[in-house]
Amino acid sequence: MIRKGAVAAADVTDFTKANILFRDQIWTKAAVHLIREHRPNLMLLHFLSLDSVHHQFGPRTLAGTSAMAFLDSCVEKVVAAVHEAGMDERTTFLVVSDHGFKGYTKEIRATVALASAGLAGKVYVLPEGGTAMVYIDQTQAAEFLPKAVQALQGVEGIDKVVGADGFAALGLPTPARDPQMSQLLLTAKDGYSFSGATGGPVTAAVPQQRGSHGYLASDPELDALFIASGFGVRSGALPAKISNLDVAPTIAKLLGVPLPSAKGKPLPLQ
Ligand SMILES: [Zn+2]
Repeated sequence: MIRKGAVAAADVTDFTKANILFRDQIWTKAAVHLIREHRPNLMLLHFLSLDSVHHQFGPRTLAGTSAMAFLDSCVEKVVAAVHEAGMDERTTFLVVSDHGFKGYTKEIRATVALASAGLAGKVYVLPEGGTAMVYIDQTQAAEFLPKAVQALQGVEGIDKVVGADGFAALGLPTPARDPQMSQLLLTAKDGYSFSGATGGPVTAAVPQQRGSHGYLASDPELDALFIASGFGVRSGALPAKISNLDVAPTIAKLLGVPLPSAKGKPLPLQ
């Protein structure tokens, strides 16, 4: 790509030092180059800047919409490259995402709540934004699980403390079936997100609004976008809401390849 002038040598050497917006630009240049030179059957391109901006400033902010406008211009370059390569008649564009975002102004430090109940080093928290996983060594669960539930219930910002008996309803395995699953799942109320901080107050305001994902998928703010356009897509054919499980089977059908292990089914594009 350097030899062909698609990217500069400095773009590559400085890549890991570059900010996320610059990286998205380089990936766009690479995508345009690959379309021009190699005319791929399938291209997957992952932009990262919108996720980073939403984490730092939250959704529905000027920073967030600016990041979307920037990514629109990246997509525009890819669409133009397909057109210039004469591939309009065989190209379907799918713009997909795996989550939406929620803004928050307070963070929950569940580890601090557990430490003040004497559970430091016994019970571990893995924060995932809108939810947190709580792990206890299986051999010590009988002793520490009830204490952990007691320490976490009523903490400001925690909506629910869900035990293994509630996991099936959320599509999660139990720790008995999957040793990587936690003993408890914590969910955050609107305006709160779980943090990995181990000191200070249990619940604390953040200096400015930030954003998180990892809330329960049933939250409509977590709905992601989906756009299909180009070859094989009739305007207005898609339902108002789609399941992300249907995206891979849709791509497989467009490519004419089998995907027998898929749980979803191809979307109606026509
Ligand atoms: Zn993220």
